[in-house]
Amino acid sequence: MNQIKIFCPATVANLSCGFDVLGLCLESIGDEMIIRKSNEKGLRITNITGADLPLETNKNVAGVAGMALLNHLDLEFGFEIEIHKKIKAGSGIGSSAASAAGVVVGINELLGNPLHRKELIPFAMEGEFLASGSYHADNVAPAILGGFILVRSYDPLEVIKIKSPKDLYVTIIHPHIEVKTSEARSILPKEIPLKTAITQWGNLGGLISGLYTEDYGLLGRSLQDAVAEPYRKNLIPEFDNAKKSALENGALGCGISGSGPSIYALSKGLENAKNVADGLKKVYIKTEIRFDVYVSKVCDKGVIKLQ
Ligand code: ADP
Repeated sequence: MNQIKIFCPATVANLSCGFDVLGLCLESIGDEMIIRKSNEKGLRITNITGADLPLETNKNVAGVAGMALLNHLDLEFGFEIEIHKKIKAGSGIGSSAASAAGVVVGINELLGNPLHRKELIPFAMEGEFLASGSYHADNVAPAILGGFILVRSYDPLEVIKIKSPKDLYVTIIHPHIEVKTSEARSILPKEIPLKTAITQWGNLGGLISGLYTEDYGLLGRSLQDAVAEPYRKNLIPEFDNAKKSALENGALGCGISGSGPSIYALSKGLENAKNVADGLKKVYIKTEIRFDVYVSKVCDKGVIKLQ
């Protein structure tokens, strides 16, 4: 095999009480990437469509993540990649992570999978470092492994995959406004009261338990964020109205995707998820803000080989 075409999924990180530790992989939103072997060592990005991103290897997340893997493997040949972006950069649904995850999975597949998917995560995190200045796995790990991913620890890195309950659907609305990740970080308090921490870990335990037992009621009660959302929601116009609408339309829970501006809601069943989408559209249609809306299942596979 000399060439591979892959689907690189979008992801939702910071899942409410899972702030900074829990993310999920989306099934129907993502980029495509073509990777082919080349006689020349190293990695070249030959074409990018759908976004204005740098072709230079060291300035593109895919280039940096791919080179981190190639430096580890020490091969006598190299690769060319084409990136076809569908996920808008800065949307809060893991645009950079999709490229970082895609390139490492794609190269590994072309080589006959010398590494397990879990072993690819640190290389993809090098790409995330380029995009955000920090090594985080809560987008790249779900993009590589699929399902829900709990990042239990960074040192050493330990991620735990939880399969999605089968009737769970995700609704996403991406209001076209800019939320700077640096501002979303700096707006958070450096310390939180013990009472807030107890609320948060009680809910996170409930959420994890609800995922394993497919207890939708427990999922709904647990999907709350006492740590980041009370501050970050102020960076997203109409957030309170959007969340109110989602819950009134039967969503199990609703919160900020990544550091925003996208908002996610989880629902039981496709019909419900579509009703939630309609309600969210009505909130933003009344404003000047343009938006995209998506409904997706959780993808249990992560990056998928298309051809
Ligand atoms: P999101 O908010 O959707 O997670 P990120 O903030 O992670 O998006 O990433 C967007 C940043 O990464 C932008 O500054 C963009 O220019 C940069 N970037 C570099 N290479 C890529 C790539 N291949 N795909 C997406 N973004 C990239």
